[in-house]
Amino acid sequence: MQAALKDRLPFEFECPYRSRRGRRGWLHLIGHAHGAQDGAVLRGTAQNISQRKSAEQAQAQEHQITLHLATATSEIEILEDIVHTLLEGMDWEAGAFWPSEDSHGLKLPSVTLARVKALESWLAEHPDCPASDTNFQAPQWYANRSALARHGHASWLVAGGIRTVFAFPLSRGHVTLGIVELYSRARRSPDAHALTMASGIANQTGHYLLRRQAEEDLRFIANHDTLTGLPNRLMFKAEFEKALTSARASDQALHVIFVDLDEFKVVNDTIGHNAGDAVLREMADRLRESLPDVELISRFGGDEFIVLLDPKGDTTILGRTIARIQAALELGFIVNDAPIHMTASIGISSFPEDGNDWQTLLKHADLAMYGAKQLGKNGYQFYCQRMSASLQRRIDMESHLHRALERQEFILYYQPRIALDSGACTAVEALIRWRHPELGMVMPADFIPFAEQNGIIVDIGAWALREACRQNAAWVAQGLPPVRVAVNLSARQFADKSLRLTIIDALRQAGLPGNLLELELTESMVMHDAERAARWLSRLKRIGVRLAIDDFGTGYSSLAYLSRFPIDTVKIDRSFVRYIPESRSDTQITSAVIGLGHRLGLEVVAEGVENEAQLEFLRSEGCDEVQGYYFSHPLPPAKITAFLASRMENGPGFERGPQPMRA
Ligand code: C2E
Ligand code: MG
Ligand code: MG
Repeated sequence: MQAALKDRLPFEFECPYRSRRGRRGWLHLIGHAHGAQDGAVLRGTAQNISQRKSAEQAQAQEHQITLHLATATSEIEILEDIVHTLLEGMDWEAGAFWPSEDSHGLKLPSVTLARVKALESWLAEHPDCPASDTNFQAPQWYANRSALARHGHASWLVAGGIRTVFAFPLSRGHVTLGIVELYSRARRSPDAHALTMASGIANQTGHYLLRRQAEEDLRFIANHDTLTGLPNRLMFKAEFEKALTSARASDQALHVIFVDLDEFKVVNDTIGHNAGDAVLREMADRLRESLPDVELISRFGGDEFIVLLDPKGDTTILGRTIARIQAALELGFIVNDAPIHMTASIGISSFPEDGNDWQTLLKHADLAMYGAKQLGKNGYQFYCQRMSASLQRRIDMESHLHRALERQEFILYYQPRIALDSGACTAVEALIRWRHPELGMVMPADFIPFAEQNGIIVDIGAWALREACRQNAAWVAQGLPPVRVAVNLSARQFADKSLRLTIIDALRQAGLPGNLLELELTESMVMHDAERAARWLSRLKRIGVRLAIDDFGTGYSSLAYLSRFPIDTVKIDRSFVRYIPESRSDTQITSAVIGLGHRLGLEVVAEGVENEAQLEFLRSEGCDEVQGYYFSHPLPPAKITAFLASRMENGPGFERGPQPMRA
């Protein structure tokens, strides 16, 4: 204005003002100088443009904040930027963000910023969480004594000489993430624009913070297994590649440890998926706890855990790590209040000997794990080259297995069971064989595990039941003396709800009475969830079939316990019979099982009887029936039919001494 006066120029400008009562605003001034140089006056108009100005400012601030939200890399940065922008743009002296206690899982930091030096130390001494008791949804303006006295930290405000506080929540829907507060030592009256702007910013920021949280959750989910929280395959791959790069650069080794729980499917199928999940979570926790110094522990889905170990030159650490994994399992698990015992098979591959890239190393560790399974589980194996050939076989087999049923490649062989008192053949056990077009005759041990894993066992098992019933009914129709046919059930089948109907259908279709069918179960199938198994077995029993416990002695259960189930027969596993009569412990166990079995009213069958000495011992102990190569190998249908027929004509061959039959 002075320049306009001096040079007699017109003027036009905008300027901020503060009224005597402290009201702030903007003016638009326009005019020009009049009169002589020494007595010139300015004449013009002043327009109050406060409204337009604050609208513009508000917009500029919103843009500023949008920009911050778009470019910030952390939550604290965003919150600091917002408070800073508000302080500058609205001319406050200090500001803060106070996170609310329950902010929807978001862990937001508190932020304090002073624009004037005088308030720095006051702000630094803020009470613990000023916003915790301000649980409001709308902006608040504290501009007089009584309003300030309502503020949750009134005395703190007094200490700083604060006379105005503007507070508004950052929220999203009903979730209040926290409160932004702006402080001034001057008295400021409520500003309508500040209020609308506040709600705009609050919304924008709240929205942004929650979206950010969602993105982070997504990133976590993409990289972690949701059940156990362990890194998943995706993250494992990334970390593995990093580790490989540094191992290569420093000429160091790297180990991949592939851990697969044994019989986990059985747990899942017999006790239920919730129980299975609980075991996996517990296992993940134990691995995390007991392996603090490995590079990475991850879960690949199912019951597979993979550990990446950088030995850092320590040659003993691999052995210790494996021992710790095994120790973690040895504690056992409690599922539905019942203890269960779990073991794992472990495979190990090492860089650089066993592979140069993560895919190869992983595949080889998997193969080694599979090798450990084949060696009887609960152990570990290091990868070696010949394992690759067996993998190819396994892949071929699995792909063929899917079509084997429709191509009618399965056949049942039958092995007789002989009663020791009469020498009569009382039963035959149906034992499945797979006539593979290229591999020839495949034994059950070589394909049942795969069939179990991918579930085809349910269909194969149903076929075996139908076929065994059909065959037995055909023998009855031929006029052969009635024998029971014993069919093995797998855990998967036992867990399948349709089993009961499958059995009923098989009997009905064949027209076979239920007492001529015996089902063989293993201890583990009934032990996992005894309550459920007992109920299930009673329902099966009501069909009229007989129930046998197969391979008894290999599953750590006691016969007295098993007798709670409605079983008829117990079959002593052939591993006990093998070293009879030389092995003292085996003979003792066998005679104990026979004695106890009888006391419990069970029929006792010994499996795997191969010689006279075993037979004599079993006879002297009062064993009821025997099954084994000494009498007959499992025979194809035509031969077993001939076997049964010749016994009918010539009487039990027993008196004449056994005539071993070969398939
Ligand atoms: P398992 O039920 O214990 O069957 C007895 C196994 O012992 C049979 O093996 C039989 O050939 C063999 N064996 C019989 N006598 C002797 C002997 O004197 N000495 C020796 N060393 N072995 C003898 P196989 O046929 O290879 O069957 C193995 C296992 O496969 C069976 O064990 C059974 O658990 C399973 N299995 C067989 N058929 C089926 C089936 O249809 N369904 C299911 N789920 N499993 C089956
Ligand atoms: Mg059997
Ligand atoms: Mg057996």
